[in-house]
Amino acid sequence: MNLKELRNSLPSRVKVLAVSKGQDIRAIRLLASSGQIDFGESKVQEALIKLDSLKDLIGIRWHFIGSLQANKVRQVVRNFDAIHSVDSLKLARRISRIAGEECKKITVMLQVKFRNDPNKGGFNSEELLDDWNEIVQLPNIDLVGLMTMAPLSLDLSQRKVLFKECRLFADKLQLKDCSMGMSADWKEAVESGATWIRLGTSLFGSRL
Ligand SMILES: *Cc1c(COP(=O)(O)O)cnc(C)c1O
Repeated sequence: MNLKELRNSLPSRVKVLAVSKGQDIRAIRLLASSGQIDFGESKVQEALIKLDSLKDLIGIRWHFIGSLQANKVRQVVRNFDAIHSVDSLKLARRISRIAGEECKKITVMLQVKFRNDPNKGGFNSEELLDDWNEIVQLPNIDLVGLMTMAPLSLDLSQRKVLFKECRLFADKLQLKDCSMGMSADWKEAVESGATWIRLGTSLFGSRL
């Protein structure tokens, strides 16, 4: 898919996150040279090696989108600009504390699960409401939105319904961003109010 054409076809609220996990350095450089600024990685070890080889690229923003273990929080806070995949109150507290120690404020989205999906992490919506008052008061995170993934078992029209639920929930919480939609379902996510679509294979081709 051509990135420029894609960008021109999207509503102005929608930003493209280029998911570079499993892609080599040259492919990332190529996309960056065409003006792509935001890149997403989901494994800390793999990401740190890439960030190091790409540190000459100026103005790139790195987004962490994978499941984040407690012992990797400091490395992620130090090296990334945003985390889309904060899936528990405990993790949010830890990110805020460590960001404070690192004298940094980090952009955060909360990962929410709108269907039972044993393969995926995330808050369920009632759980998030219970934790909400504490989360919004955490001092060193800049909470901007929700992130969700559709279970693979859903067809595209069912995914669209789920994405709309996410948009409504974000609106209710007065959060501007919804990070939702991947290569297979980004159109449905855009139609439902996504502000970030996370594209890997459709931009880069298949992963290593
Ligand atoms: C891998 C990944 C993507 C991108 O998936 P594609 O199907 O390659 O577009 C998006 N979001 C998350 C959280 C991922 O782990």
